[in-house]
Amino acid sequence: MTEPSTESGVPTSTRRHLTQIIQSVGTPAYVYDLGVVRSSFAALREDLPAASELFYSLKANPHPLVVAQLADLGARAEVSSTGELSVALAAGCPAHGVLYTGPGKTMAELEDALHRGVRLFSVESVTDRQRLAEACSRTGSTADYLIRVNSPRGSTGGSLRMTGRPSAFGVDHNDSQALDRLLRPLGAVRPVGMHTFCATNIADPVALAAEFEQSVRTIAAIAGPAGFTPQVLDLGGGFPAPFARPGSLPRHPQLRAAIDAALDTAFPDQRRNGTRVLFESGRALTATAGTLLTTVLDVKLSGDRVFAVLDAGVNVLGGMSGLGRLRSPSVVPIPLGEGTPASELSPAGPVTLVGPLCTPLDVLAPAVEGLSLSPGQTLAIPNTGAYGPTASLLGFLSRTPPAEVVVDGDRIVAAGRLGLHTQEVVLRG
Ligand SMILES: *Cc1c(COP(=O)(O)O)cnc(C)c1O
Repeated sequence: MTEPSTESGVPTSTRRHLTQIIQSVGTPAYVYDLGVVRSSFAALREDLPAASELFYSLKANPHPLVVAQLADLGARAEVSSTGELSVALAAGCPAHGVLYTGPGKTMAELEDALHRGVRLFSVESVTDRQRLAEACSRTGSTADYLIRVNSPRGSTGGSLRMTGRPSAFGVDHNDSQALDRLLRPLGAVRPVGMHTFCATNIADPVALAAEFEQSVRTIAAIAGPAGFTPQVLDLGGGFPAPFARPGSLPRHPQLRAAIDAALDTAFPDQRRNGTRVLFESGRALTATAGTLLTTVLDVKLSGDRVFAVLDAGVNVLGGMSGLGRLRSPSVVPIPLGEGTPASELSPAGPVTLVGPLCTPLDVLAPAVEGLSLSPGQTLAIPNTGAYGPTASLLGFLSRTPPAEVVVDGDRIVAAGRLGLHTQEVVLRG
């Protein structure tokens, strides 16, 4: 039925189609394997409390067929823009099951979401809640909201922390003035629970459990004294997955019991009350399903360093690191097939993998050992199904965006290419 990733990180069913894909769409090309999406969803579902609900965070990979596969499996949609909402609804996610999150929601997008039937929002501040209430009165609708709480640290884990320090996300757990206001309904909107999202990609299983336990305690410490009984506990995510290097999806055999115990301690009536417990994941549901194919364009020596120039750079993968604020994605590619005759340069030492952009920030890996590359060779960068093209600097240098190909077992289901184009805007007045 479903095929797991191979040990190398390139799924078996993806390998089957590589030649045809490279011949038809060239490189760079992303390949998304729906069989791996299915097995990833099943794995995470199994590791979480049985009665909980799992939301797919579309920002990880908004490809319509990836979203449709997850919707089909029963994932709900967590969206943060009008564009993501459109993809989710077109993919078959019912609007009433959507959770709308994110700082800086505009009146226009709130009204649009309400028009289309979204009824659950995460609010990030008193102002955000005010705007939601006004959007409801303008559209004649009602809505429920979760109060997003910036909870104290449960651990030191996570590759990108959202909470436990001053943050643009949510309301500080000790900001009692804001919380007092948000815990009371306003106009046609009412609070139904709380939302936490501590960090992403928490590799250490002990730290991951500690974050969830901390979130549960934080929510209880706010709700209890206020006499507020949450109907919805959104505990966020943080589930890890390998990124752009070989590896398989981590499992969490202890997690379900740890979270159940924390919930039963902090909210002894939650099972009897039918309290909804929500989790969110982007990367763990899609990362291992994706493979980026790229071609070596040049291999050259500068000083004592070897550079391999690829046709995929930070315009295609890990683009946010191209801004120089994050470390380079440090990819570890897998050479495909035999490669072409070695160039006169056969580097023995580490190779710096760079992209084709005219900036020294276009580095996919500062130093990869054990690679012997030559121009014309194709490489696979595994585990790139999350935070791929749509998290990259697609527009920079106006290069052709990568192709995206979806495979499922022995079928190639679709092939396309993201585009960037100017749409004419009619000026008013
Ligand atoms: C980004 C984000 C997620 C998904 O994070 P992953 O690391 O991809 O699982 C979930 N919830 C919120 C609120 C987010 O901002």
